Amino acid sequence: MDHAGTGVPPLTAPTVDLHLHSTASDGSLPPADVVRQVAAAGIAAMALTDHDTTAGVAEALAEGERVGVRVVSGCEFSVAAPWGEMHLLGYFLPLRDPTLDEFLVRCRDGRVVRARKIVAALQEAGVTIDFPEVEAEAAGGAIGRPHVARVLVRRGAAESLDDAFNRYLGRGRIGYQPKVLPSLREVARLVHEAGGLVSAAHLRDRATRSTLSGLKAHGLDAVETRHPSHSPELRDRIAATAAGLGLLTTGGSDWHGGNGSDHPQSQPGSEAVPLAWLESMDLRRQELVAR
Ligand code: AMP
Ligand code: MN
Ligand code: MN
Ligand code: MN
Repeated sequence: MDHAGTGVPPLTAPTVDLHLHSTASDGSLPPADVVRQVAAAGIAAMALTDHDTTAGVAEALAEGERVGVRVVSGCEFSVAAPWGEMHLLGYFLPLRDPTLDEFLVRCRDGRVVRARKIVAALQEAGVTIDFPEVEAEAAGGAIGRPHVARVLVRRGAAESLDDAFNRYLGRGRIGYQPKVLPSLREVARLVHEAGGLVSAAHLRDRATRSTLSGLKAHGLDAVETRHPSHSPELRDRIAATAAGLGLLTTGGSDWHGGNGSDHPQSQPGSEAVPLAWLESMDLRRQELVAR
């Protein structure tokens, strides 16, 4: 198909990927490698959104400059929700903000305490695993269940990451330990004061009008509509609800570099998120900072 009969091939609209992980948390590739994969997929901009850390962002920014990909500083927080736990994507986060940094250090310390409890519970159940091995797997990044899962697979206690979650690490299993969760209000305030915006990640069928309107009252700016766990019907429904409530929309692949994800089919850019969505976020953020 040509463009308006001119014989010129149509330009595909630029896309972005606003949900990506690296070795700074439970992804399997270093930040610079993630950026290179994003560049290779022809994506204009990306956000690095590691769990409870912005430690990978500086490296991603430097590589983004080198290969011509705009990198947005992000983070995936875990917060309390009416149903338990909710993930909250923070965007446009400053890299050196004492209040935010102190908060994130506390989150990561909480992850270490939890990982120790997980390992102790598994040992109690007779599984051969020890904390130093899990700690080494995390290699200084924010530690989480995927690191435990990788060790379980390596030790032959599970066949795959998914199997490790089903057998040991998922809710209700022997190695399950809840996170100590801050409130949405608290994290939204922290992010807003730092000049950023927050989007509710992968809500799936919890993204009803009443739930989203409640979350908005607690500071939510946007909702992730495009995500590998959302069907096309669901993402369209969430987008319509978001528009009615004045919430912005975000989306991304939640790619973990091929290891550490429950969405093995996702790839950088696989959610084809329009650049215009990021531009709307830019505008909203400028309004917030101007206030
Ligand atoms: P945590 O932050 O320690 O609660 O671990 C949650 C992370 O585990 C998610 O961010 C995913 O990356 C990963 N995850 C969750 N479920 C699965 C699964 N079934 N298989 C593989 N990875 C998973
Ligand atoms: Mn993860
Ligand atoms: Mn998540
Ligand atoms: Mn994620």
